[in-house]
Amino acid sequence: MPHLLVAVIVGLAVCQLGLLLTTLYLHRAVSHRAVTLAPWFAFSLRALIWLTTGIRPREWAAVHRRHHAYTDVPGDPHSPILDGYWKVQLFNAGLYRRAAHDADTLQKYTRDIKVDRWDKVLFNHGVLGLALGMVGLWALLGWEGALVAAGVHTVSYLLLNAAINAIGHRFGKGPFPGYATNNQWLALLTWGEGFHSNHHAAPTSARLSFHWWQLDPGWWVIRLCSGLNLLEVRHSTPHLTRAAREAYPSNGPAASGPSRQPEEAGIIPAAVTPGAAGDRQPELV
Ligand SMILES: [Zn+2]
Ligand SMILES: [Zn+2]
Repeated sequence: MPHLLVAVIVGLAVCQLGLLLTTLYLHRAVSHRAVTLAPWFAFSLRALIWLTTGIRPREWAAVHRRHHAYTDVPGDPHSPILDGYWKVQLFNAGLYRRAAHDADTLQKYTRDIKVDRWDKVLFNHGVLGLALGMVGLWALLGWEGALVAAGVHTVSYLLLNAAINAIGHRFGKGPFPGYATNNQWLALLTWGEGFHSNHHAAPTSARLSFHWWQLDPGWWVIRLCSGLNLLEVRHSTPHLTRAAREAYPSNGPAASGPSRQPEEAGIIPAAVTPGAAGDRQPELV
């Protein structure tokens, strides 16, 4: 196989690994506590997200929780409804960086996430993680192949993550109130994240698919990890927010008939974590 093609395939594989770590670790575990990871497994994923993306989990969670608190209203760090589709699709990383560097956002939304010694020594130094990741690619592919693979990974990872925020609030249909939408094709490219309407309706649920015909590959990985005792799932059924519940039963996840009530489906209101006075907190922890 030509060396260039191998490098492109490796770059796409690293991108998919980064997207899997993003949905499993940064999103479902750290931001929403939808799964609880075994300590050594959590540390492994934390190291891998550092090597593949350089992202600081505390910052990612802060920006994402603010998105849930101010979804598509002023205060949302990346809304295609407010900012336009192309701005979020092409410049999501810049919008993320601006919000991630905002001290108020970090302080308000990550009271439960402490900075530890590992963060200070390693994980807060994203450039070091990416450099070590590059060394790994260089060992595998040589310097030319490493540059190609890193370029493919960087561009595809940034565009697909941006698509979750941009397409996921702009194109497609969503059964629940709000602008968020479900797109199966995007879910297949992003380990389930394309079910964005479902996710905004039930942010603490580890499973983003609500019907048997919705394919959430991230959930399959979670089921596998659960079977290996690497994690515990918080809710076994979709755990709707109050707003989504009010749209129930016609748009609910049970899909077994319009007469089915939330209690029968095991759906109860999500707990709202009280913040300091004046804070707007999403229903997520
Ligand atoms: Zn969203
Ligand atoms: Zn979320």
